Amino acid sequence: MAIKSPEGMNDFLPDQALAWNHFQQTAQRVFGTYGYQLVYTPVMELTELFVRGIGEATDVVSKEMFAAYSGGNLKTLLEGGKVRSNSTFSLRPEGTAGVVRAAVEHNLVPQGAAPVKLLYAGPMFRAERVQKGRLRQFHQVGVECLGAEEPTVDAEAIIMLMRFYEEIGIPAQSTTLLINSMGCEACRPAYREAVKAYMDAHADGLCETCRTRAEINPLRAFDCKNEDCAHTMEGAPHITDHLCPACQEHYTAVKAYLDAAGVAYQEDYRLVRGLDYYTRTVFEVQASDGLGSQNAIGGGGRYDKLAEEVGGRPTPGLGFAIGYERCQLVMDAAGVPAPHATGCDVFVATVDPSLRAQAFAVLQQCRNAGVRADMDHQGRSLKSQFKLADKLGARSVVVLGPEEVAAGSVKLRNMETHDEQLVPVDGVVAALS
Ligand code: AMP
Repeated sequence: MAIKSPEGMNDFLPDQALAWNHFQQTAQRVFGTYGYQLVYTPVMELTELFVRGIGEATDVVSKEMFAAYSGGNLKTLLEGGKVRSNSTFSLRPEGTAGVVRAAVEHNLVPQGAAPVKLLYAGPMFRAERVQKGRLRQFHQVGVECLGAEEPTVDAEAIIMLMRFYEEIGIPAQSTTLLINSMGCEACRPAYREAVKAYMDAHADGLCETCRTRAEINPLRAFDCKNEDCAHTMEGAPHITDHLCPACQEHYTAVKAYLDAAGVAYQEDYRLVRGLDYYTRTVFEVQASDGLGSQNAIGGGGRYDKLAEEVGGRPTPGLGFAIGYERCQLVMDAAGVPAPHATGCDVFVATVDPSLRAQAFAVLQQCRNAGVRADMDHQGRSLKSQFKLADKLGARSVVVLGPEEVAAGSVKLRNMETHDEQLVPVDGVVAALS
């Protein structure tokens, strides 16, 4: 049986690769105007980074990571032995932990420096149950701003995120921006306890998983898809009523900047996001068309303690990630034209095979001038060469015939208008431009 790609891990064939490339370039262009610079970090990191950074009790870390072992360690494991926990790797389930690790490792935010603004793009891996919009290898574009805790950073990031969706063709009316504040280490512990006490008192209205969550990660119960839980949690204390004055002031300022910029949002006290590292502002963008239950097309928030978790000095941070595949589904539903990959712009054809050497020379002339050009390598008839030119998406075909070549010229045919002109053999590039 032929071997297939792993479940939930898709190939990007040329059209899809072009679309992903366009997505990344749009992000670089939009976020570049806000000062973000591109970085790449490894697709796998020490498992400990995610355990410490994202949190051991999160679904992502406790259930969804793919581990990676070096050959020697794998052999040891398969033979029933143990490998040292500080030498196990995991494929990255998200991009923030790696970028923050890199910023700490390379001291990108020295004390007192202006914030560093980083942009990344690439595949992420989560061992999830595969469904529409939920894959095991998916692609994200994300940003991280490290070194500033002012609310302008939060507002600026949210504003540029919404601008990105519009730039790639997701209509504003089909997105909803949800925001919330998660508080900080001064106010969240007490709030957490209040939610836990509420959950303990209303355990009858909660599913099995949420009863366990009450012990280890109570706030995640707000996220539960179970209807009884959703109903029960409606009566739970709201974080926005439990924020300390500093967090309250920060949250109010973020909302004021969004209001001033005309960015519409809904406050949602249930928005807790799945990762442990968030503090203060959190946000998520949901799309109404093209997706089923997996309708979040991006999200992020502030993580003022993460740098310390991974061994750096206190460095406030904020970031978000956008899910490429889900955005693509929304773009398809909105009728955004998908890019079409073509093999060449100019095709060089010959009337008979004896002219192949001259055709080859014309081909090089085009390519050396940066024109995407190709020819038939397999001895096709002229008719079949035209078919191939069409298939490759050529906009022009250069035809070499014995009489024209003897007179030092070739025929240039415009595939759209069907116009033909004779041009000098060494003047093809000039004629094309
Ligand atoms: P998260 O960090 O989980 O909020 O992820 C940010 C964005 O990545 C989400 O809003 C989704 O658009 C996308 N995403 C997350 N997990 C998956 C997945 N398993 N498959 C496809 N896209 C995903």
